[in-house]
Amino acid sequence: MNRIQWWICHVLAAAVLSCPACVSVTGDEQISVSRAAYGKTPEGEMIDVYSLVNKNGIKVNLINFGALVSEIHVPDRNGKFADIVQGFDSLEGYLENPSYFGCTTGRCANRIAKGKFTLDGREYTLATNNGPNHLHGGIKGLNKRVWKAESDATGVRFSYTSPHGEEGYPGTLSMTVVYTLTNRNELRIDYTATTDRATPVNLTNHSYFNLAGEGTGTILDHQLMLAADHYTPVDDTLIPTGEISPVKGTVMDFTVPTAIGARFGRLGGDPGGYDHNYVLNSRDGTLALAARVKDPKSGRVLEIYTTQPGIQLYTGNFLDGSIKGKGGKPYHKNFAFCLETQHFPDSVNQPAFPSVILRPGESYEQTTVHRFLAE
Ligand code: BGC
Repeated sequence: MNRIQWWICHVLAAAVLSCPACVSVTGDEQISVSRAAYGKTPEGEMIDVYSLVNKNGIKVNLINFGALVSEIHVPDRNGKFADIVQGFDSLEGYLENPSYFGCTTGRCANRIAKGKFTLDGREYTLATNNGPNHLHGGIKGLNKRVWKAESDATGVRFSYTSPHGEEGYPGTLSMTVVYTLTNRNELRIDYTATTDRATPVNLTNHSYFNLAGEGTGTILDHQLMLAADHYTPVDDTLIPTGEISPVKGTVMDFTVPTAIGARFGRLGGDPGGYDHNYVLNSRDGTLALAARVKDPKSGRVLEIYTTQPGIQLYTGNFLDGSIKGKGGKPYHKNFAFCLETQHFPDSVNQPAFPSVILRPGESYEQTTVHRFLAE
């Protein structure tokens, strides 16, 4: 390393360490990681639950069905722990899981209009499972697949290879999703994928959060900040119109902390609530703060950092109490919020949106960090 390289390296390192928006993500600290049998799929595949517990007692449970997050236990401002994600008590619930609680979703998260797209001159037809559209990877997406799991002293690495043609997608797609829990109270998710043919990829995690504790009521009083000056308006089947609109002066504006439900009355729509992709201000691929949510009663705070250009705010609008979750509790409308870090919905049909096409020889890489605090 010459003198100039040495200076660049050290100045950059100092800038990263002193930047309040940067999360230290070395992830090499040891935590407790244990594994137990969780259940068996109808096809006879064994499913395990992995429990990650850090030195502060924060616990995250993961299962290799859907590479999903089944529990996150974090303290409130008085040190009282609660599980802050919706889900089920056993594998049976996750086998159906129509609302995608906790899942890794893909190959393309969110919607693709009419389940069709053209790539390199060829039209592809995907499974349609949401009215006329393709949603979250299709009828049997990544959320319904059994992933291979390997754990180490910091977390769990899930891997799955989706064969060419699965749910209509071209290319054999090999993916990894690595969950790391740090002693700085961060749950880090690193995604990678490679392919043998050009194909769209857009992975995310679909956890449903309620910072007061899952199943305890609505999240309408949670204070939300989104680092997004723009969003992508949608049609009545929730497909983006292609516009990128400013949030300023509208009910979409969360640039300053605002109660999620404060402007529901002015939102309109049926069933109402937010189900929109926000265009993050930071879109250069660096890990940056995207969202901050606080439950005023418990003081629990969730910060989300991502390398992705977008984030879907979904306020559990389609929940109607018919799904009975943990402890048999019904999950009603607005009982949770999702903040799904992603590329924009239907990008594959929107030339002006950042591309989701992965080609042979390239590597898809995405990182999202969930940081838990109480104040
Ligand atoms: C979508 C919602 C959908 C939910 C569950 C969210 O990502 O934006 O429209 O109902 O996932 O599938």
